[in-house]
Amino acid sequence: MKQDRRNFIASSIILAAGGLGISADAQSRPDGSPDKTDASEDVKTLSVRGRVVCLTEELEKPYQVIPDCSNRWHVYSIKTADGKYYPFLPVDTAAAVWLDERFRQRDLLVTVRTFPGSNFIEVIKFQSWKDNKLYDLYYYCDVCMITAFKPGPCECCQDPVVFRETPAEDATHGVPPSGGT
Ligand SMILES: [Zn+2]
Ligand SMILES: [Zn+2]
Repeated sequence: MKQDRRNFIASSIILAAGGLGISADAQSRPDGSPDKTDASEDVKTLSVRGRVVCLTEELEKPYQVIPDCSNRWHVYSIKTADGKYYPFLPVDTAAAVWLDERFRQRDLLVTVRTFPGSNFIEVIKFQSWKDNKLYDLYYYCDVCMITAFKPGPCECCQDPVVFRETPAEDATHGVPPSGGT
């Protein structure tokens, strides 16, 4: 069993490496908590490229799963080019997938954490590919000059945050942008 999981992770890494390479940067978290990527060797940070699909609906045709998405919500997942699915954990950093259709329309590169025994992903950062260029996806409050993960009122001033899609600093160098604001 353990061997299987290792293989799965190894193939995921190869997959991610096919695009931009693995960005090992977990970056510090917006809430200021320390980066815990190294806390356990079984927790991996990966870059997963693909598009958002609802896993339940994807399984309908081949396996006769009966979706009940209007009552149970969609199981949004990244589907990679080679047909692997990585369902999003429904955490705050992934909320935009449910709340903003732009995240479901783009070719995404998502920096994530994966956990032992599961292929669910915890989103660290969303990026998109357009015309072979990488963009950062996020929301921004122009008044407070702070970023946010999801649409809605700014945590600080309560004005609505705006969607931003800006060229990623690290697209050419593979070097994480220096943290901080
Ligand atoms: Zn669905
Ligand atoms: Zn604000």
